[in-house]
Amino acid sequence: MKAVLIEADTISSAWSQLIYEIYKNGEEHKPDYSMSTRRLHATVAINDVDNNQINSFVPFGENLIKKYKEELTEEYAEWYISLPDDDKRKFDYCYAKQLFRYGETAYNTLSENLKNLRVGSRRHVGVLWENEVHIPKFEDQPCWIAYKLELLNETDVLLYILYRSWDAYGGFPANLPAIVEGFKKVFREKKLPYRIESLIATGWDTHIYESDLQAVEKIFKIAQLCPKCGNLTPKHALISTTKGKVCTQCKCRM
Ligand SMILES: [Zn+2]
Repeated sequence: MKAVLIEADTISSAWSQLIYEIYKNGEEHKPDYSMSTRRLHATVAINDVDNNQINSFVPFGENLIKKYKEELTEEYAEWYISLPDDDKRKFDYCYAKQLFRYGETAYNTLSENLKNLRVGSRRHVGVLWENEVHIPKFEDQPCWIAYKLELLNETDVLLYILYRSWDAYGGFPANLPAIVEGFKKVFREKKLPYRIESLIATGWDTHIYESDLQAVEKIFKIAQLCPKCGNLTPKHALISTTKGKVCTQCKCRM
């Protein structure tokens, strides 16, 4: 499988570049039970996780992002595990439950990791995948399976994220802002001085579903990556400069 590294200043730019890369260079793949995809192995490194999270071509609105952010909290995990087993609101896996109350042991990996976070250590890992539960299952396992926190200095945290399978088009732009917000909320509530300095996310199988390819094709008919910041920008909104065409934001910064 083709492997790519995408370096971006913002989540919006990372999504734009990733969609472009998969659309142009991804390989066709037929998974055993679900829809065909175009895929690659991708690692995405993002410098600023706070600003410009959502590109205007993301296939859903701010409200859905807000909902995802609310669902990646400890309160949500508590509410979710309080539901009876046959409750219709239960779904195949709940990331908040996996993140804050790992399995039947209710072991909060994030709280435990934050207790002994120290500069230079590479051991602050949390796993959302439960071997006993997920290996025997045929489908519907968590896609996001692990994270690692690395404290770079007194305040700056490098956050690593790992996906076994990752929907780049519809999943990525909702997942990353929600994960970032979920971690930031815990830092705030525990009154810790930490900030997410940068994020490195890896998807072992990062894909666009066949059913989304037409929508992606349409995007690239009317938009392109800004050569300077890598954000998907409507072609008509690119501005000519002495250094080539750039988006309005880049033009303002020149
Ligand atoms: Zn730009």
